[in-house]
Amino acid sequence: MCGIVGYIGQQQAAPIIINGLKRLEYRGYDSAGVCIVRSPELDIAKKAGRVVDLEANVDISLLTGTTGVGHTRWATHGIPNDVNAHPHTDASGRIALVHNGIIENYLTIKKKLVAAGYGFRSETDSEVLAVFIGMLYDTLGDLESAVRTALSEVEGTFGLVVVSTVEPDMIIAARRGSPLILGIGNDEFLVASDASAVIAHTRQVVYLHENEMAILTRTGFTTKTIANVETHSVIDEITFELDQLEKGGFPHFMLKEIYEQPMTFRDGYRGRLLIDEGNVRLGGLTSVVDKLRSAKRIIFTACGTSWHAGLVGEYLIEHLARIPVEVEYASEFRYRNPIITPDDVVIAISQSGETADTLAAIREARLRGATVLGMVNVVGSTIARETDAGVYLHAGPEIGVASTKAFTSQLCVLTQFALYLGRMRQLGLEEGKNIARALDAIPDQIHAILEKADVIEAIAKEYAGVSNILYLGRGVNFPAALEGALKLKEISYIHAEGYPAAEMKHGPIALIDENMPVVFIATKDESYDKILSNIQEVRARNGKVIAIASEGDDHISALASHVLTIPTTHPLLTPVLASIPLQLLAYYIAVERGCNVDMPRNLAKSVTVE
Ligand code: GLU
Repeated sequence: MCGIVGYIGQQQAAPIIINGLKRLEYRGYDSAGVCIVRSPELDIAKKAGRVVDLEANVDISLLTGTTGVGHTRWATHGIPNDVNAHPHTDASGRIALVHNGIIENYLTIKKKLVAAGYGFRSETDSEVLAVFIGMLYDTLGDLESAVRTALSEVEGTFGLVVVSTVEPDMIIAARRGSPLILGIGNDEFLVASDASAVIAHTRQVVYLHENEMAILTRTGFTTKTIANVETHSVIDEITFELDQLEKGGFPHFMLKEIYEQPMTFRDGYRGRLLIDEGNVRLGGLTSVVDKLRSAKRIIFTACGTSWHAGLVGEYLIEHLARIPVEVEYASEFRYRNPIITPDDVVIAISQSGETADTLAAIREARLRGATVLGMVNVVGSTIARETDAGVYLHAGPEIGVASTKAFTSQLCVLTQFALYLGRMRQLGLEEGKNIARALDAIPDQIHAILEKADVIEAIAKEYAGVSNILYLGRGVNFPAALEGALKLKEISYIHAEGYPAAEMKHGPIALIDENMPVVFIATKDESYDKILSNIQEVRARNGKVIAIASEGDDHISALASHVLTIPTTHPLLTPVLASIPLQLLAYYIAVERGCNVDMPRNLAKSVTVE
């Protein structure tokens, strides 16, 4: 999920790698490390914190050698500390590896290695792979074959680079699901997770493809598939400047993150979803299974976008598991002397895991004896540490201040949590399978919506000058309406309100006239007919209607000024798909108004003050 830089050539590798890592800092990370091959040994330095902390800790100039690799870690398995930082080595210390991504079946591999007598220093999935490669090397006697064999057994995602003393003049790189590029110089080669780390040296690059690996030496490189079929690689010229590169060619981090959602959503259920069992495996909750089975009530506590995710969670859990749920603003919860019993499970939802109000709320809940769980994105964050158990979002670093991918990942995790609770209570296998299949279809469905972004952009241009927008939805789509309105407020500074559609009559309808656009989430579910009546009520008052509708709904286009269609999913998962056009609408309106989309005025990414 974070950064990799490898170098092999004629120059000292360490300074080149350190500078490359600094170029990758914009992505966010929690620890850094470097390994230089100084045959017959590997010199490794790694440290939790920033690259400067690593530099302050070791004299980089003492790491001499012309082959090496560096890493910035964004923890997924094991807290950010010095030991969990990459590079990781095999048992013999001759082979070092850096890895981006998640090895889903690391526990299975680890068990086999433990049975064979291997030990581990870190809690990471990545170290398991390093040790596995080392073990295979001992039997195969060839590093490339060892890497290839290991990777053919691995499930999950990786961008990885291996260096060693057994092949000191060689770097091996491989990717599946995490990007890697080769930088082609004169008798020197780089490998990096992102082109920004190489352009100080060369603009000639090769983009590694899925399931491809590269073998780099000081004089050349070859590429092949992990299945050992040689591939023909094309050298591209980077034409982007650094700023564009960091944003992956997108004009803003927010848009980049919106487009990452097919991948980040999948990362949220990767290795967890058991489709045939209509269930999920949530390793982070093992220690509290009994508490969950006997829980009498669930209370979500969160702020902002995460609070909206909690509202969706309420629908999911009440529907699938029939457990009463309350959703509380963390800031209110902590000050209103809440009634909490030891049968309650209190769950903090937070992207950063550092939200001050949410943290204070769980401290309060814990004091009163509740089981406290966390659903956070940042591994090892304060909320993650101060909760009894939890489920990580695995959305990767989110840089845009207005949350997008973390929100859909929260919905991904909440759906799985509800499924998990449901299956241990009253939810049948078939309904469990339906949910699991629907979840697994979401990444492609998000992708299909993103393909139609130009339609949303055109609508956004039309509405960029308005002063107010109302967002309406019913049932589980009401929180999606709230989140749509919040997105617009945050980045475009247009006043927007979300309401349950039926509430319109009880007040907001007074606002409707030809200047008030109304966004309806009007997908085909049990409240469809009722939503259509609400749309009629708006039209009768000359309000303009933008409808998020189900694909193939011809009826609604006769009623709405604009229709944005989304694919059909399980009704409980509609908020995930409905969020995508709403994010894009907010984004394009804000861009049209000339707003600073990634850093909206007055907002902070992580609100660590009350
Ligand atoms: N899963 C690995 C870890 O937790 C890699 C994380 C990353 O992509 O930075 O160490």
